[in-house]
Amino acid sequence: MKVKVVGSIKGTDEQAEHKIARRVKWLIAFFLICLWGMMALRGVVLYHAHRDSSAQLLRQMSAAIEDQTRNQFRLVEMFLMAADKGLVQATELNELFSNSFFQKFRKETGLFIDIYAVDLEGRLYNITSAEQEALTFVHDREYFDRFPTTNIRIFPPVKSRVSDNWIIPIILPLSSPHNKIRMLLIALKVDALADLYEQQRPKPNGSVALFRDDGILLMQTPGGHTKAFGKNYSKNIEKLFQDQKDATVFLSNSIFDNTAQLTSYKPLKAFPLSIMVSVAHRDIMEKFWKDLGVLIAWTVIATATILLTGKQHIRLLAEQTILNSEIFRIATIDALTGVLNRRRFIEIMEHEFSRSRRYGNPLSLLMFDLDYFKQVNDTYGHQMGDKILVAFANTVAENLRTVDFFARFGGEEFVVLLPQTPIGAAKLLAERICKKIGQMQISVEQGKISFSTSIGVAAIQPTDMKPEEMIHRADKSLYEAKSNGRNQVGPLD
Ligand code: GH3
Ligand code: MG
Ligand code: MG
Repeated sequence: MKVKVVGSIKGTDEQAEHKIARRVKWLIAFFLICLWGMMALRGVVLYHAHRDSSAQLLRQMSAAIEDQTRNQFRLVEMFLMAADKGLVQATELNELFSNSFFQKFRKETGLFIDIYAVDLEGRLYNITSAEQEALTFVHDREYFDRFPTTNIRIFPPVKSRVSDNWIIPIILPLSSPHNKIRMLLIALKVDALADLYEQQRPKPNGSVALFRDDGILLMQTPGGHTKAFGKNYSKNIEKLFQDQKDATVFLSNSIFDNTAQLTSYKPLKAFPLSIMVSVAHRDIMEKFWKDLGVLIAWTVIATATILLTGKQHIRLLAEQTILNSEIFRIATIDALTGVLNRRRFIEIMEHEFSRSRRYGNPLSLLMFDLDYFKQVNDTYGHQMGDKILVAFANTVAENLRTVDFFARFGGEEFVVLLPQTPIGAAKLLAERICKKIGQMQISVEQGKISFSTSIGVAAIQPTDMKPEEMIHRADKSLYEAKSNGRNQVGPLD
């Protein structure tokens, strides 16, 4: 059985600790919001960084592929020009065919090309072999158009009738047809070009495509969509550029399979050719997701650490709170009855005494001493005595206001400090309590026990300098009550 703690200031510490715990929680929440905010921001930056670096890489790859393509075509062009000059000087066709210049050139191009001569009837001769039999007829092809210039002409890829490979025919009409030979034809092997591009293209899903400047697809890798070779993509390319201003690299959908990709499309200077190099968007995203995954994993780890540390911090704070309030309770509360102890009462009384003096408010004090308590102990035992003390404290507490201070002063002596209470009201209260205590009955094995208390009363007086003076007067009043027969309230001073 615990009595309500009248006038205790317990809880102040607890509130402060709760406030700190709440603050820690807010701080953790703030930290986490900042952390995830930063993560999200970093994610966006990361995405752009991936796109930018992919675009940068694409530009470099595209430039390298452009250079190589230009070199290949320049070599072919130079060869054709040189051959044209050589043929003018050659007197016999034999002389031309046995010319080691051609053999050397072929080797130097890594057998990248095949060289043929085409006569007026459209017969195709292999220049690099001693054979002078015509290999096939090509007169049905547009090679026999009237050429406006003597420049080289690049034709859409065809399946070679000689080698059965896909080739890009490049033709130079001779400046002066010689021994019926009207033009030189170079067959650029698509496979060889594909091998070259295969090494250069963005991995794993990037692609390289070579177009003639009128939009005809000359070749494309990977996949070798030979069906698409020779098709005119000018409309698709035009559409591709519609929304792009001066960008050299832009996000678009593939003109071949409509998948999203980062594309670079550039005309090759010096030749009527254009190169399209693309990085698959999913390749960029794959790298991005990988990096983002690592970033998220770190953020989750950081979050877990913050939460665990915060939880521990709050738990420690809670433990501290309990400990503090326990310490406060032990230091200020009487263990048996749960009312204030003497030390705390003296503190409070000093405080209330000076307040009362400063503002001139009334202040009264009741002092209780249980009658013949030694005898109660002797008759019913010390334990029963303790029970009676608790029951007594409860009854007194029930008759007090929350602003009153109730304390155990020592053994079976108690005090009540009554702020804002004039002596008359204090005396009435004392009498009421005295009567109630007198009427109490505690059940024991032998029957019922009754007991009583004597009460001394005192009020602050203008001449009082210290609380002890008040205590002293209450003590005197109590003594008088005892002397006058106990179970009564003592006289006023
Ligand atoms: P009276 O005050 O009427 O003159 O008689 P009394 O018998 O009460 O005398 P006194 O105040 O001198 O004795 C106090 C007794 O109270 C002594 C002690 O046995 C008992 N007492 C003091 N503290 C406790 C306590 O914590 N528990 C119990 N059971 N008894 C206590
Ligand atoms: Mg006593
Ligand atoms: Mg007593």
